[in-house]
Amino acid sequence: MDRATIDASLKVLSDCNIGTVDLTGGAPELNPYLRELIIKTARSGRNVTVRSNLTVFYEPGMEDLPDFYSEYNVEIIASLPCYTETGADDARGKGTFSKSIAALKRLNSLGYGIVPEKKLNLVYNPMGAFLPSSQAELETRYKKELGMSFGIVFNCLYTFANMPVGRFSEFLVRSGNMATYMEKVKNAFNPGTLGNLMCRHLINVGWDGTLYDCDFNQALGIAVDKNCPRHIRDYDHAVLSGRKIVMGEHCFVCSAGQGST
Ligand code: SF4
Repeated sequence: MDRATIDASLKVLSDCNIGTVDLTGGAPELNPYLRELIIKTARSGRNVTVRSNLTVFYEPGMEDLPDFYSEYNVEIIASLPCYTETGADDARGKGTFSKSIAALKRLNSLGYGIVPEKKLNLVYNPMGAFLPSSQAELETRYKKELGMSFGIVFNCLYTFANMPVGRFSEFLVRSGNMATYMEKVKNAFNPGTLGNLMCRHLINVGWDGTLYDCDFNQALGIAVDKNCPRHIRDYDHAVLSGRKIVMGEHCFVCSAGQGST
């Protein structure tokens, strides 16, 4: 995301009643303007959340990120695919688990997961063509295992079903599981999830300023409804708040089982 898009986003923030800025990407920390964006957003009284893969703290020049996040009470949502070394390293590569554990300990030492204004949440995605098990049960298991083995504490665990986009989509096609997986999520449709679908509570700004209903639609290249402004520089809060959400087959994943948003 370049300077002009960051500035346009900050302008929207100053003009509109938006409570939270949620920063995501492959690794949002690698954007050179990220810290400036966080400082300005936090100083304007908005909540800031960052989706972090934790291992980024060990990249050159990123060592002080935990202290920076702590200074501005940035909420951290961290991906940890498993509470065992084998499971995490199999999913994300060798060394992922040990770096993640060290990063979580560092965050705990700064008060993350302990004091109310420093929230630390973890994310779990299943590693295959199946839906996640109960979020509450898995959270209890993560808290027990990470607490007993490493003394780590955190606030909540979020479980997300895998969306058939990108590498997961390729895996489903390659393994011949696409049809079965989509049938599974459709059969698990739960109307009780509809009120909390993330597209009903947020708008996604792509790296080039294009507006999407959610980051899944961004991954699929589906911009917001054609009757709305489609770029952050043309943002119109009233029009976009009442927009028709662009949906497709993939939306069944968000509404399967306990929901994924
Ligand atoms: S994938 Fe569909 S249901 Fe899920 S957040 Fe995006 S638009 Fe909404």
